Amino acid sequence: MNLVGIATLLIGLLSWDLSAQVVEAPASPRGSLKVKGRFVNPGPSPHASSDAPKVIDEVERRISLVGTLLTQDTAPDPPLTMEVPDRSFLMSNRQHTSFTWLGHATCLIQMGGQTFLTDPHFSERASPVSFLGPKRLFAPPLAIEELPHIDVVVLSHSHYDHLDLPSLRALARQPGGSPLFLVPLELKAWMQKEGVTRTEELDWWQTQTHQGLRYTLVPAYHWSTRVLWDRNQTLWGGWVVQSDHFKFYFSGDTGYSDLFSDIARLGPFDLSAIAIGAYEPRGFMKRHHINPEEAVRIHHDIGSQYSIGIHWGTFRLSSESLQQPVRDLARALEAQHLDPETFVTLPPGKTLRFPLRVP
Ligand code: ZN
Ligand code: ZN
Repeated sequence: MNLVGIATLLIGLLSWDLSAQVVEAPASPRGSLKVKGRFVNPGPSPHASSDAPKVIDEVERRISLVGTLLTQDTAPDPPLTMEVPDRSFLMSNRQHTSFTWLGHATCLIQMGGQTFLTDPHFSERASPVSFLGPKRLFAPPLAIEELPHIDVVVLSHSHYDHLDLPSLRALARQPGGSPLFLVPLELKAWMQKEGVTRTEELDWWQTQTHQGLRYTLVPAYHWSTRVLWDRNQTLWGGWVVQSDHFKFYFSGDTGYSDLFSDIARLGPFDLSAIAIGAYEPRGFMKRHHINPEEAVRIHHDIGSQYSIGIHWGTFRLSSESLQQPVRDLARALEAQHLDPETFVTLPPGKTLRFPLRVP
């Protein structure tokens, strides 16, 4: 087995998710719930009642996924072409609302005179170790030291492709002082132990106001782990960020469920960043990762005016090809009779300014 194979196996084992054993909480707009010390999902998954997997099925699926990844040589799709970021705009912008995709779930948003990042990941691999695991397919369009001053970082959950400790530590050392790190419950003490001290943790539906923006952690249908024994001991979620004039939604990682009609209560949203990648093989992935068709349903459910597909093309985490999410997104928009200009994908590094200029 080559290094890629070993790495994939390692990540596969770390991601071992015996979904059939998960206890699901009743839907509650009041916050998260723990069962036997572990957080549970916000209500049943639509995938769970009809085909709740038995443990042996799950084992078979995991082996099948690892096998698929091991036998994949190179992607049939070429890596994404990057756009050179408009750094002078980003460095000086205080007035405009802007969105820049930096790859995977890392988004740089400027609104209300503030700059914040979602799930900052600037390392070479999404892995517990620096020499093994899913490797980035393109360099970040901006290095950490090239970013404008970051006021706030929001984190969705503890998985390695979202919580990258080297990136967080580097951001904490930025000139002018550490950003405020907003994290889901039970991650604060861990972050502080790891040296990222300016951290506050929130439960689902809790809001923290910082310098005029309101940051609310909202539920997602997912799970968490860093090591083999900490499954679901820290919470996961998405984020809603609001100014007086603009509402932004960030999905984090999630499966599809009816929880999005609850999130719609905070909308409608001017802009959403919704995960569209890491969804094959479907039988294995569907409980915790939406596919583009479900991403479009969420766009509709929450009343998003404009959505950008993220969490694709950056790390190989699943068996769909690199640009399959883009093709499946186009199909889903057509099937659901939605304007393709309202849910788009961007080249890494490209900045959109809002309100969007009509060409
Ligand atoms: Zn995840
Ligand atoms: Zn992810």
